[in-house]
Amino acid sequence: MRAVVLDADGLPGLAEVPDPDGPGDLVRVLACGLCGSDLEKLGRGPGVLGHEVAGLLEDGSHVTVMHRVPCGRCERCVAGHESTCDEFQQLRIDPGGFAERLRATHVVATQGLGLDAIWVEPVACILRAAEHVPSGRNLVVGCGAVGQLWVQVLRRRGDEVVVTDPRADRVEAAQRIGAHLDDGPVDAAVVTAHGGVNAALARVEPGGTVLVFAAPFGDVPISLDAVYRRELQVVGSRSATPRHFDAAVALLPELDLPAVTTLPLERFEEGVELYRRGDALKVVFTP
Ligand SMILES: [Zn+2]
Ligand SMILES: [Zn+2]
Repeated sequence: MRAVVLDADGLPGLAEVPDPDGPGDLVRVLACGLCGSDLEKLGRGPGVLGHEVAGLLEDGSHVTVMHRVPCGRCERCVAGHESTCDEFQQLRIDPGGFAERLRATHVVATQGLGLDAIWVEPVACILRAAEHVPSGRNLVVGCGAVGQLWVQVLRRRGDEVVVTDPRADRVEAAQRIGAHLDDGPVDAAVVTAHGGVNAALARVEPGGTVLVFAAPFGDVPISLDAVYRRELQVVGSRSATPRHFDAAVALLPELDLPAVTTLPLERFEEGVELYRRGDALKVVFTP
């Protein structure tokens, strides 16, 4: 079958690979979303990326997959830090979503969502992280696809949401789904774009929370003086758990989903470039 494979230097290329024969269900990939975390892994091969899958089981049922699963019992899981669980580090899909087929030990039924199932994993990550964000007047830094989903999740629970993004078209899109633009103080801030942490620290009220929801791409110095003097909390959240996958499947039909750019696997590098330049809000590949 065909798959986008990273070579030893982490450079992607379409290749013929053997069908996966590992444990779990055989899933025919209908589409797979490109995630910011996939970009982090480019340049660090080898392997097959992609974990935001809309797929079909052999019996014709629509599913998505969980590429990592916490044990649910260890101290870290019990403390709510499931993504740091030892078992969570193990990949549960073989080889990855940017392929014609994969094997998955944990599939989640998505009946009725169709290709929108590619959003289940990102929304599940947001629902888990949102548990760390106190309700109130909250800032979303970055109005890309993830920022737009955050705006809706926070608005649905009654928060007032303000946004910031250097791109006017993205701010307008966020305003259409209920966010507004101003530079007043906020109770908490969600950083979905790298480089936004210090701007967020400057905006939150004393005692407020800054949630780091995107890889900072390198070591970003943050203002510890602000953290100390205003007694701020800086919290990280990464990835999702089975409970949040179920909640995301249930919530998705009610969300206004960001526009996607769909490309065949053959145009993988072009899709990565569109996403990097900010010319596509979300890129989805179909085998
Ligand atoms: Zn993702
Ligand atoms: Zn665990």
